[in-house]
Amino acid sequence: MYRVLLIFVFLCWTAGCAQYDQDKKRKAMVTNQLIARGINDPATLRAMRKVPREAFVPKSIREHAYQDNPLPIGQGQTISQPYIVAFMTQILQLKPNYKVLEIGTGSGYQAAVLAEIVRSVYTIEIVEELGVSAKKVFQKLGYTNVITRIGDGYNGWEEHAPFDAIIVTAGIEEIPQPLLDQLAEGGRMIIPVGPSNQRNLVLVTKKKGKIKTKKVLPVRFVPFVREKGEN
Ligand code: SAH
Repeated sequence: MYRVLLIFVFLCWTAGCAQYDQDKKRKAMVTNQLIARGINDPATLRAMRKVPREAFVPKSIREHAYQDNPLPIGQGQTISQPYIVAFMTQILQLKPNYKVLEIGTGSGYQAAVLAEIVRSVYTIEIVEELGVSAKKVFQKLGYTNVITRIGDGYNGWEEHAPFDAIIVTAGIEEIPQPLLDQLAEGGRMIIPVGPSNQRNLVLVTKKKGKIKTKKVLPVRFVPFVREKGEN
């Protein structure tokens, strides 16, 4: 009996320690990788301090969850570097009542960060295994304001448009016209655009129906892929 109790206490203690360790690493990531590089939007920093990035990476690399780089999430895809997630979130100037569209759910981490700030996040993933696994993590962590869909995000999500903000997390040669159409008046979109070896994050704004674009940061992103038969 005592032995069972002892094992139980030991297990709780190690689990607690592991959690404490991840919480410490998350706080350090915010200070050393985000604030140190100029991220200063309070809502973005609050969300990055809260979302457990370790829950979105494969178990085998959980201890590396807060490293200053992208990490593999299977299916040849990656979870973006924390700084890039924060940068893209901050530049959207999100407000609590916003409805946001994300193309490229991947691990689900970016969607969870957005979901901490806005009313609802619609996110589309083309690789079924990734979309299904991200949905499970959203359910487990209680992100009921994230709505998922499996498919090609090129055409956006017409039924729920317009979106106050759009974020694309896969690199593409040109900005898809349907996404420009589905951006609300006064809305902002952030998207990695250009040929694969020289992409830039491009900030798109729509004012009085007029689209403006501005290159804001050179980046590397996994490629945007199209479903067969789509164009
Ligand atoms: N936001 C993700 C980053 C994922 S990497 C995260 O936080 O983890 C980019 C993702 O875009 C990949 O999972 C890839 O499968 C997906 N993707 C690529 N082309 C797509 C398309 N046409 N529609 C939807 N998702 C796409």
